[in-house]
Amino acid sequence: MSPWIAKALVLAATVVMIAIRAPHGRRSRIVKVATSHKTPLETGLLILAGVGFFVPLIWVASRAFSFAEYGLSAGPLVAGVMCLVIGLWLFYRSHADLGTNWSITLEIREQHRLITQGVYRRIRHPMYSALTLYSIGQALAIPNWIAGPSNLIAFGILLSLRIHAEERMMVREFGDDYVLYSARTKRLIPGVW
Ligand code: SAH
Repeated sequence: MSPWIAKALVLAATVVMIAIRAPHGRRSRIVKVATSHKTPLETGLLILAGVGFFVPLIWVASRAFSFAEYGLSAGPLVAGVMCLVIGLWLFYRSHADLGTNWSITLEIREQHRLITQGVYRRIRHPMYSALTLYSIGQALAIPNWIAGPSNLIAFGILLSLRIHAEERMMVREFGDDYVLYSARTKRLIPGVW
């Protein structure tokens, strides 16, 4: 199977992801930040996530990682595309539900509201679930040992080092409301964890 099929699909998924995020990115520059919890570690993690996101695009556009290429087969490609589609849908829904409360880093906005409805009803981090699914989708669909898992590794590191800090920040801001919300929800997978 030609890797160009995977390249076209990965590029299309990236364009959709950027299109979903773009209006929220613009809006987040307007809504004022009330408290920032951005540490040097957070800055480093964001840079790492950016690199993880761009490596698959370098693979799409060049032969830079051709030494790490392997044969593309239909099974992983179909499974990967399914993960990408579900991940993008959840990414869209979590952005829609979070609205102006979204930040790319650990921040509390002015008039920040705790969202517990929509895709936030059963899990506390649907956007991170979406990005995990998306990264798994890339790992399956990209027949390359470097470009395939790059996003999954970078995002996995960001997630493991951020999720507890984010929850501590939310407890500090919303107190019992977030504690009670945590007691009736899971983190990433409904009913599991
Ligand atoms: N962890 C969430 C949100 C990611 S965006 C998810 O995966 O869906 C990160 C920002 O969202 C955090 O800085 C915090 O300010 C905000 N946030 C996280 N959970 C929230 C919630 N339930 N309601 C409102 N804002 C939330």
